[in-house]
Amino acid sequence: MRKFIQERINPNIKHLQKSATLAINDRSRELINAGKTVWKFGLGQSPFPVPTPVVEALKLHAHEKDYLPVEGLRELREAVSEFCRVKEGIHAHPDNILIGPGSKELLFLLQLAFQGTLIVPSPCWVSYMPQAHIIGKKIQISHTHFEEKWRLSPARLQQICEQELNHDNASLLVLNYPGNPDGDTYSVPELQQIAEIARQYNLVILSDEIYGQLHHKGEHVSIARFYPEGTILSSGISKWCGAGGWRLGTFIFPPDLKPLRQAMAVIASETYTSVSTPIQCAAVSAFRGGMEIERYLFNCRRILAILGREIYHTLTANQIKLHPPTGAFYLFIDFSHYAEPLAEQGITTSTDLCDRLLQETGVAILPGAAFGRPPEELTARLAYVNFDGNEALLAAEQVAPYDPLPGDFTRQWCAPVITGIEHLIAWVNAL
Ligand code: PMP
Ligand code: GLU
Repeated sequence: MRKFIQERINPNIKHLQKSATLAINDRSRELINAGKTVWKFGLGQSPFPVPTPVVEALKLHAHEKDYLPVEGLRELREAVSEFCRVKEGIHAHPDNILIGPGSKELLFLLQLAFQGTLIVPSPCWVSYMPQAHIIGKKIQISHTHFEEKWRLSPARLQQICEQELNHDNASLLVLNYPGNPDGDTYSVPELQQIAEIARQYNLVILSDEIYGQLHHKGEHVSIARFYPEGTILSSGISKWCGAGGWRLGTFIFPPDLKPLRQAMAVIASETYTSVSTPIQCAAVSAFRGGMEIERYLFNCRRILAILGREIYHTLTANQIKLHPPTGAFYLFIDFSHYAEPLAEQGITTSTDLCDRLLQETGVAILPGAAFGRPPEELTARLAYVNFDGNEALLAAEQVAPYDPLPGDFTRQWCAPVITGIEHLIAWVNAL
């Protein structure tokens, strides 16, 4: 029977494995259960708690039991629309908003509904390409470089559009900033140039701005400002609101892309029906915001900013190459300086590197290969989230907003991250 079933698995899925982010979490948990110490820099989830007013709203709505419209609770879509107006200067009618069980699912529905090529700059978040493989979609991958800060340059996009795209087909360009896995972003002039090229070539942009509110200086700018007619803005409450496990994502469409939104709603109505009702009710309070949520965001950002900077300096001082982060909680690190001693130990791919590092030190990071990089490139993603965000937030709240966090803040409140980095450094230095 097993063989019979094996042969009947959809060939698009046969060669895929469980998503790297979830697999590393399973592996870390197994090791911890077996009594090992693991420095969990694998799965990228917010270290911070869901803000109290949002948790209280969830308790208040726990009894709500009815199915909701497939597009999402009207009140929530109104709150998302207002949030975008205030935070991003974007005017989106609530009818143009779709709520889904995580932006990941909405991204999948988009790929299913949209007929055309997916243009993905690499490194990129782990799931864009596997989703395309499942559907059997054509992918145009564009490798970026360390020197370009792992960003898609307007010049490169122009080249792709001029020389590499089949203009009989439509194309969907995925942008993600602040970026996973690199923690970097685009400047306003870069966004303006990318918008201009997209307009010229009629590209649809899926702008994954799920880390937008975690720009370390609170200075995120959406490309929807410059290309309103062709940008779908993807976000949700998983990152800025610490609610990854609540599973709620948002898509904002331009009016011209209504047929796409409708097609996605059709698929959603035949698959998950609607997002959990109490979660949608609670999310209304997240998007309506207020003083407490603003204070929460301010402190999340300043903790991530000093921690990211400190790790950047430590790793750079030890010949691990990376750029200073500007948002989110990721660093994309390059071990090429250690290529020779690594090769002497039989480590020639990013996957070997991460496996050996985990085995020998308990430091869990994800290989560059999981983010679309060539297997032999010695890169990896480090998610600096292995600390008690609740305690760190309480401590940061004691420091006046105009004062910097004290020099020993990270050692005191983000200690597992600092210790994990020390283990990583000791390992490379002993190679
Ligand atoms: N995009 C990026 C870049 C991500 O890192 C993630 C991971 N949470 C997602 C989308 C999906 O997020 P969610 O499904 O939790 O909204
Ligand atoms: N987005 C997170 C990450 O990149 C984890 C959640 C997920 O992949 O769905 O690690």
